[in-house]
Amino acid sequence: MSRPELRAAVRNLPGYVPGRRSLSADVAALASNESHFDPLPSVRERILAGALRVHRYPDMAATALRERIAGHCGVAGPGGTDSGGADQVVVGPGSVGVLQQLLNAVIEPGDEVVHAWRSFEAYPILVAIAGGTSVPVPLTADEHHDLPAMLAAIGPATRVVLLCSPNNPTGVPLSHNELTGFLDAVPPHVLVILDEAYVEFVTGTDPVDGLAAYHRYPNLCVLRTFSKAYGLAGLRVGYAIAHPELAEGARRTALPFGVTALAQEAAIASLDAVDEIAQRVAAVVGERARLTAGLRASGWWVPDSAANFVWLRMDDENSRRTVESLAAADILVRAYPGDGVRITVADAIATDRVLAALPAPHTLPA
Ligand code: PMP
Repeated sequence: MSRPELRAAVRNLPGYVPGRRSLSADVAALASNESHFDPLPSVRERILAGALRVHRYPDMAATALRERIAGHCGVAGPGGTDSGGADQVVVGPGSVGVLQQLLNAVIEPGDEVVHAWRSFEAYPILVAIAGGTSVPVPLTADEHHDLPAMLAAIGPATRVVLLCSPNNPTGVPLSHNELTGFLDAVPPHVLVILDEAYVEFVTGTDPVDGLAAYHRYPNLCVLRTFSKAYGLAGLRVGYAIAHPELAEGARRTALPFGVTALAQEAAIASLDAVDEIAQRVAAVVGERARLTAGLRASGWWVPDSAANFVWLRMDDENSRRTVESLAAADILVRAYPGDGVRITVADAIATDRVLAALPAPHTLPA
């Protein structure tokens, strides 16, 4: 008997594999780059107040949130059709949802999307769902985007280039100079999406400033999230800053009512609390330095991370052993078979636990 069939692109789709979860307080949950902080009291209050209204649909246009984001990102002002720049803001259920909206808005069957690899594992999945073809470009040996090779990979079928800075899972950022040099060389009909999911954690000289570049390059779109520094991973809300026509297209491809009222309220409350968020980010950045130094002292090669995680490159066998050693000490981290292990940075206790439990690279247990 014949049956409804899956699309070919979906039949072969690997499916997104999340980091291991734990709800036990004894387990250090360092597999998903979440914030280890409890929600801020002011944010919690707004979520609880919003809970009384869940029998109503949310504001589908998320107008109040989009206006706040426009102000936060400095895109308010002339140039759009709405007042205040909200016409350049797209929100969605996590930045992964916004990315899907963007890709679905621009990809025609067979269009190519160039991106670094290894990078965020949702990229090839979302490209395939949109009907496009993923063109992965290997990172350099020191874990950077290979921008010359990415430029060389752009061909007549290229519709989008995805840049991830800092890159997940390696933590390595682009410099601003690298970004603008790249944008100068990309043909203007190619959309460049700069994924800045971890931008709040970026330190160092010449940090990439996607929003400054956005004002100069009409083919640049900046993707951000409330899941990481803002600690709202469980509520699912992210955003993009894009030129009004693209933003409008990406709002049209959204699932209706995809961003809940609670998520909208919590995101606005978080933008009201940017100073407290900045303090939390500074604490994570401090632990990142301590974890990196501790790992290097025990012999690991650790690229400088500009995100809330660190990256240890290792082969399949060693990554399996490393994850097992840490799991035996109730520490969950993320293994990327064949490439390495990613460890989320949290508080000082988590740093100490990782440093105590992680074997030196040459003494990994058999
Ligand atoms: N981009 C990058 C680089 C990420 O690492 C993640 C989450 N792991 C996302 C986007 C998506 O995050 P969210 O959908 O929670 O905003």
